[in-house]
Amino acid sequence: MAEGGSPSGNLNKRTPRGSLWLPSQETAQVCHVQLQTHPFFLFLTRLDEELAAQAQAVGCACGGALHRANYPRKPRGCPTLAIREAFSSRLSFCCSRCRRRTTSMSVRFLGRRVYLGLVVVLCSARHAGQNTAAATLCEALAVPLRTLQRWRRWWREDFMHTPLWQVMCARFMPPVSAERLPGDLLARFGGEAAEALQRLLCFLAPITVRAATLAEGR
Ligand SMILES: [Zn+2]
Repeated sequence: MAEGGSPSGNLNKRTPRGSLWLPSQETAQVCHVQLQTHPFFLFLTRLDEELAAQAQAVGCACGGALHRANYPRKPRGCPTLAIREAFSSRLSFCCSRCRRRTTSMSVRFLGRRVYLGLVVVLCSARHAGQNTAAATLCEALAVPLRTLQRWRRWWREDFMHTPLWQVMCARFMPPVSAERLPGDLLARFGGEAAEALQRLLCFLAPITVRAATLAEGR
């Protein structure tokens, strides 16, 4: 399993209660980000439920009905136990006829990584800056440096080659800097910090169901 992470009990003691405060850094967009954790995290849960409902409505390719068969998850990077509880399953379905799996898109999880998708985004963005604020945030969330480096590599190399980015990258002008992913991309979504983050997670949702991008893990 994942290396070096600390149990969530330890994490809870070290994370400011009620909000996930992120140290300021590069652009104005991502500066002084204050996420009101419960409403924001619960909103992401609702979005995942909507995505799941859409997938269920479409049904299986064979014409069979889809029944809930969620995957259990033990996510890391959750500010509270209640959020960890709310994020403890990856919504998925099993076909009643052919038994094939259908896993809906997610704004909560980025592939099979054990950390929450938003942690992968925010910590990677901070790590790209290589400053002390990044170190502080990642220490608070107990993300090992090696994991951060792997995420950074994934943004710089694998993400660039996903069908999603191949199709969408031309829509960003000036071009998004590979070296500054995902911070540069996050900054393009505008609005309040939490809103920009939510938009980016929605933007990334298609890659959460592509087998080719899931292999990276954690
Ligand atoms: Zn089927």
